[in-house]
Amino acid sequence: MAATPVGGLFTEEQPRKKDGEPKKLAVLTSGGDSAGMNAAVSRVVRMGITRGCQVFVVREGWEGLVQGNSDSSSDEEDANSNPVKTGVQAKANNGFVATYGDGELLKEGEGEAGFKGRYIIRVGWDDVRGFVGEGGTLIGTARSVAFRERAGRKRAAYNLVKHGIDALVVCGGDGSLTGADVLRSEWPEHLKELLAEGKISQEDYDNHKILNIVGLVGSIDNDMAGTDLTIGAATALHRICEAVDSISSTASSHSRAFVVEVMGRHCGWLAVMAAISTGADHLFIPEQPPAVDDWAGEMCSVLKQHRELGKRKSIIIVAEGAIDKNLKPITADNVKQVLIDQLGLDTRVTTLGHTQRGGRPCAYDRILASLQGCEAVEALLSAKPETPSYIIGLAENAITRQPMMEAVAQTQEVAKRIAAKDFDGALALRDPEFAECLNAFYASSRISDADYLPQDKRLRIGIIHIGAPAPGMNAATRTAARYCLSRGHTPLGIYNGWPGLLEDNVSELTWLRVDQWTTRGGSELGTNRKQPEIDLEGIAYKLEEHKIDALLVIGGFEAFTSLITLEQARANYRKFKIPMIHLPATISNNVPVTDWSLGSDTSINVLVEACDSIKQSASASRNRVFVVETQGGECGYISVVGALAVGAVIVYAPETGISLKMLAQDCEWLRARYKSDLKGKSEGRLIIRSEKSSSCYTTEVINKILNEEGRGLFDSRFVQLGHTLQGGTPSPRDRTRAVRLSVKCIAFLEQHARKGRSGEGQDTIASICITGANLKIVPLREMVAGADMKKRRAKNPWWLPLKGMVELMSGKQNLANVSLAPWRSKL
Ligand code: ADP
Repeated sequence: MAATPVGGLFTEEQPRKKDGEPKKLAVLTSGGDSAGMNAAVSRVVRMGITRGCQVFVVREGWEGLVQGNSDSSSDEEDANSNPVKTGVQAKANNGFVATYGDGELLKEGEGEAGFKGRYIIRVGWDDVRGFVGEGGTLIGTARSVAFRERAGRKRAAYNLVKHGIDALVVCGGDGSLTGADVLRSEWPEHLKELLAEGKISQEDYDNHKILNIVGLVGSIDNDMAGTDLTIGAATALHRICEAVDSISSTASSHSRAFVVEVMGRHCGWLAVMAAISTGADHLFIPEQPPAVDDWAGEMCSVLKQHRELGKRKSIIIVAEGAIDKNLKPITADNVKQVLIDQLGLDTRVTTLGHTQRGGRPCAYDRILASLQGCEAVEALLSAKPETPSYIIGLAENAITRQPMMEAVAQTQEVAKRIAAKDFDGALALRDPEFAECLNAFYASSRISDADYLPQDKRLRIGIIHIGAPAPGMNAATRTAARYCLSRGHTPLGIYNGWPGLLEDNVSELTWLRVDQWTTRGGSELGTNRKQPEIDLEGIAYKLEEHKIDALLVIGGFEAFTSLITLEQARANYRKFKIPMIHLPATISNNVPVTDWSLGSDTSINVLVEACDSIKQSASASRNRVFVVETQGGECGYISVVGALAVGAVIVYAPETGISLKMLAQDCEWLRARYKSDLKGKSEGRLIIRSEKSSSCYTTEVINKILNEEGRGLFDSRFVQLGHTLQGGTPSPRDRTRAVRLSVKCIAFLEQHARKGRSGEGQDTIASICITGANLKIVPLREMVAGADMKKRRAKNPWWLPLKGMVELMSGKQNLANVSLAPWRSKL
């Protein structure tokens, strides 16, 4: 039978079996659940359908595959039953057709009664709506003993073949992916046996000789090699930071110590990232146990120093699998007892446990899972018999494919090296961010002169915030200041931007002064948009007067243009020849070259939270469209990336503008979409509009047009999020980025500063950028080349093609009009 047409598809060559049947692929979630799994499942389903495949979900992970479907319908009938259950009658001019498979079975309640003993379920486009923002996994997961046995896997192979499925996306941890690899390697034998036993026909055998599998790594620990980040880890870090931030205030009030245990049996990623994101005092992880036998004494001396400086609270993060150098566990209770016995601190233990798994996925997990889910389908459909199974990974900001078993083997190697006490070897197997963050943690939490540079290399480093406040600015300043102190430099806070410098608003940043800054939004130093042109001579004079040897400039486009001015003025003012580094920080992410700026993750999270609530309200009122207006100036980053994270159906960005024709088409599409919703099952839909998308078609105007054009099918409301997007508390991702990048900035300044003499050459003034899979220092001239200076944004931003993905995933656009290539290689 023919595949179900959705979204005006069939524009590309369809993957088909020999007999004309569409390819059938299935997706399952297995092992421990993690936030973002639902987003991954929904994107696999929709991308699969978009590609002309029939898509199935398997409930309860590998166990569902072993169990198969208990109803006695013939397998052929079963596989083709209800391909389009209902609700497909409304066909819009652009070819959109809503589909419902058997996905209703996913929601009919709990357990056996709910899904009637059927584990392998054909799903349609609308069965996965609303999945993107849900926590856990809606299709269920289980740990399957039967699948560990060969007989169980043979049964799984039988169930797959009987449904005509020979392409599988598995979302799970290293255990689940190991299972996937075993199944794939045994597949030919299973099929031969099933044929010999007469359980499958020769035709089945011939049609499904190869099983292709692609893995998506869903794990909250971030313990998988071959990817910088696993689906769910970012959300787990959110949960931890929320908890520790709350604990911090009560700890401070009572002058207490808190020992916080976080998940991670063989992987300290969560613990390290939590420690730097919350400004913790001490840390225990499996990969790098304390170097000394007396870890208790070492910890107490660190904490004592902090207390002597005036700290009122002590936070110690302990990974579940923390050990000493002799592999003896260091537990939260051990740590507590030491603090009570040796320091007499009022100490409490908080074990975060399963709260870390739960809750709605943060924005980054939704985006990661979306892009990886789509890429998984692409990888599956392009797989050849000889291609290895891949996992879809992430390297900085690029989506990658890695051989699955190499990644699994390397992951398991970490545990082996830890067991063999080869801790350096274990650490080397982690991604570079891990070690850098670990070092940054020690540099910013210990007070020691061990790493001081020789006297003549010590600098006076000015730190200044320019432009609008952005979450993460303070965290960057804290780490920069503390890192400076650990190297023997003098960090100087320049308050209130360039005018502040002119007014001598400059003072040394002490270790304790910046202590609480990690978690604070806004700008503790104070920031404004004034440019150095206000008084170049005065600025040169003040830099000289305060003996500033190097400058760290934190901010967005204004910070960037400030540096352009200073570079140009170097010919006239010798003082501007000191090394200067720009750390991009702006919620609108409009700085050229860099893929991300500090604050840009927080703003998307704020948008996601707001939109989740708005969507709920829109859905409750059934046929309602909400137009949500975002900030961002001439840069559509927040609207486009936010739209992907919230599952909006339409997005308007300044880069692409709004025309009357566009609006007419969108109204028509919305009417068709609401018409095709099942009666009583209509949903609220979101449209995201960036504030400067059009001066004529404002948010209010669009709202009025939609109300008029809804013609009884839908109505419209709008909301302007405005300054709320500047965020309160920085997201953990902005905090960890701030820490990592600021240390690199100071290293750059050290490298280029020559005490007593001015730096020369253009390479002494630069920005630090994340581009694709690289983190690099980019000279200012390259930054300028990548900028649209008039519109104050990047020339070809990496995220703009995601607009096409938003529309593809809402069914508004078809493959003919969307280029997959740009977002396949980038995140
Ligand atoms: P995770 O995927 O989160 O690491 P587990 O290690 O519990 O979780 O694995 C999930 C499931 O994957 C197991 O219940 C089992 O069914 C399957 N599995 C794990 N390891 C293997 C293996 N070596 N061979 C076959 N199946 C396995």
